[in-house]
Amino acid sequence: MAIWTYERNTRVQARGLASVLSLDNCPFCATSLTNLGNSATRSPYSYTASAKIIDICAICGFWRIRQDFKSSKGTRDEYYTSVHAATATLRELDLSDISVPLQEARTYLVAKYDARFEMHPRLFEETVASVFKDLGYQVVVTGYSSDGGIDVILHDDSGTIGVQVKRYKNSIEVEQIRSLTGALVLAGFTKGIFVTTSRFQAGAPDTVQKYSSCGYQIDLVDADRFYETLRLTQRPQYNSVEEFASKYGDMDLTLVAESDLPGGGLEISGKHITSALNSDYDGPAAFALKEQLRRDPWRDKAEHRGSIDAAAHRE
Ligand SMILES: [Zn+2]
Repeated sequence: MAIWTYERNTRVQARGLASVLSLDNCPFCATSLTNLGNSATRSPYSYTASAKIIDICAICGFWRIRQDFKSSKGTRDEYYTSVHAATATLRELDLSDISVPLQEARTYLVAKYDARFEMHPRLFEETVASVFKDLGYQVVVTGYSSDGGIDVILHDDSGTIGVQVKRYKNSIEVEQIRSLTGALVLAGFTKGIFVTTSRFQAGAPDTVQKYSSCGYQIDLVDADRFYETLRLTQRPQYNSVEEFASKYGDMDLTLVAESDLPGGGLEISGKHITSALNSDYDGPAAFALKEQLRRDPWRDKAEHRGSIDAAAHRE
C-alpha cells in the first residue's frame, strides 16, 4: 500500500524497532497482528540458522519483518545471535487533496483516524459512500449536485435511504437532524442515516425516537461507529508471503540487537513504541477499539460479503 513507506529505517531507531517487534496489536488501528509466515533456513555446512517472521495488520496494512540469525562461534554451545528487522512507517497523506485515490484515503483513515478532520468534505462523502457500497448497497453520491441536504442515496432490497454526511469537529445539533428529516420528506424517503466525524448532542436520540413514531427512521452514525464500520469493510491487505514479498521482498533490514552470550539471547521491551515510528505518528489511533466490535446492524452484511470474498479467492 502506498500509505506505508520503508526508508531503510533512517527514521527508526533500533531500540524503538525492537519494541515494535514485541507488539501483539497494530500500533495504528489496534487490530491484532497476523503472522503471514515464517521461513527458517539452516546451513548444512555450519552451525548457522536464520528465521524470518512477517507479521501484518490485515486491516490497515501495517507490517513488520524480523530476521533472527544464529551462528556458532566455533566453540560448542556458544552462539552469536543477531536480530534484524524492519517495520512500515506511515506516509503523510494530505486528505484535503481531492485527488487522493479513494482506497488509499480509506486505508489511511483506518491507520490515522484523526486525519478525518482535515479530509476534503467531498472525499469524505465519497469515502462514506464507498463503505456503504461495500456493505452491499447501491450507492449514488449526490452531495455537490443537490442542495437538499442528502449527500448519498442508498438502495437495497428494503428500499431507499437518504444519507447526510457532515465532516465536522463540533457535535451535531438536534436542529441538523430535523433538517435532514425535512430533506427526506421532500425527497419522498422514509429512512435516513446521519454520518458525522464528530458526535451527536444529547437530545439527538430523543429526536430520532420521535421521528420514528411518525414513520421516519433516522440512524445516527458518529465517529466511533463510522470507524468500526470502515474497519469492517476493509479488505485483508496481504493474502500470502509471495504477495507481500512482491512489494517488500528485497529490503535491507536494520540491526536491532546482537548478543554473543552462550546460547544467544534477546530482551525486548515494549516501552519505546513512539520512537519506533516516524515523527508524524501521534500515538495509537485516537479511538481505541474494543477487541470485540460492538453489535452493529451492518455487521452481518459485512460478514456475508467477507464469506463471498473468501469463496472467490478459493476459486
Ligand atoms: Zn492496523
